[in-house]
Amino acid sequence: MKNLLLIATGGTIACRETENGLSPALGGAELLHFVPQLRDFCTVDVRDLMQLDSTDLTAADRLAMAQAVRRDADRYDGFVIAHGTDTLAYTAALLYHLLADLPKPVVLTGSMLPMGAPESDAPRNLLDACRVAADGRAGVVAVLCGKILVGNRVVKFHSTQIDAFLSAGVPPLGAVGSDGKVRWDVPAAPPAQAAPDTLDPHVLLIKLTPDLDPTFFAALHGYPKVILETFGAGGIPARLENAVRALIESGTRVYITSQCIAGGMRLHHYAVGRRAESMGAISLGSRTTEDALAAVMCGEV
Ligand code: ASP
Repeated sequence: MKNLLLIATGGTIACRETENGLSPALGGAELLHFVPQLRDFCTVDVRDLMQLDSTDLTAADRLAMAQAVRRDADRYDGFVIAHGTDTLAYTAALLYHLLADLPKPVVLTGSMLPMGAPESDAPRNLLDACRVAADGRAGVVAVLCGKILVGNRVVKFHSTQIDAFLSAGVPPLGAVGSDGKVRWDVPAAPPAQAAPDTLDPHVLLIKLTPDLDPTFFAALHGYPKVILETFGAGGIPARLENAVRALIESGTRVYITSQCIAGGMRLHHYAVGRRAESMGAISLGSRTTEDALAAVMCGEV
């Protein structure tokens, strides 16, 4: 019998209707009441860490989640984090970096409908997440709608349907069948040797649009780190060249990522990409937006 820790943080999975709309109200123990089948394969302790809509979570809250896992890393076989779906991809990416060296499973899950609501996906997702955590494979993953997604590739692509997540640029790691069996389709990677234990949340993400006003960049001079989400394989438009160069000269570290969720940067391919390279912008390679933010916050690039 595996021993798991459920870390409850709020989200739709824990929501109840209030006069102001859905708001998180259930703690971890109440969530577990809906999935008595867990007792067949694991015991679960609960830590009610926070009770927030994930819209309200900050880097400090995500760091607290990583620290809660670390604190009890030796006591449990695996960890499940019940989380709002809206920013679950940001948390998954950040924990993927912060817990890269942990030799235990850390499984994020949530649901599109509250626990207890008719047709809710919550019981299945919580049960599946516990099955994956009890399976023992190390790493930070998300388990939603039967899919097992590696933490740094999670993308929420739909705001209402039950099947709302995908794995960007790589296939899902595996799946949990309707019979409850965990299947891995991708070989396990060994845990990293080390992981960052602090982060700097002062990272600004700017999505380039075809007509972004170049004068806007002057307001950012000296800001620590700026990620420009550029088009396709990456590049700086000619009309922004002087503005971005001045930003870099002001001491700001400027990173480049793509608005495409898969495929990544090929800065050397086009002249517009070489323009970015020559002015000292740093390519973030092939990353989702959430992973780009996480890697820069953790100082890994
Ligand atoms: N707004 C909710 C949250 O992210 C949505 C959800 O959990 O599905 O907490």
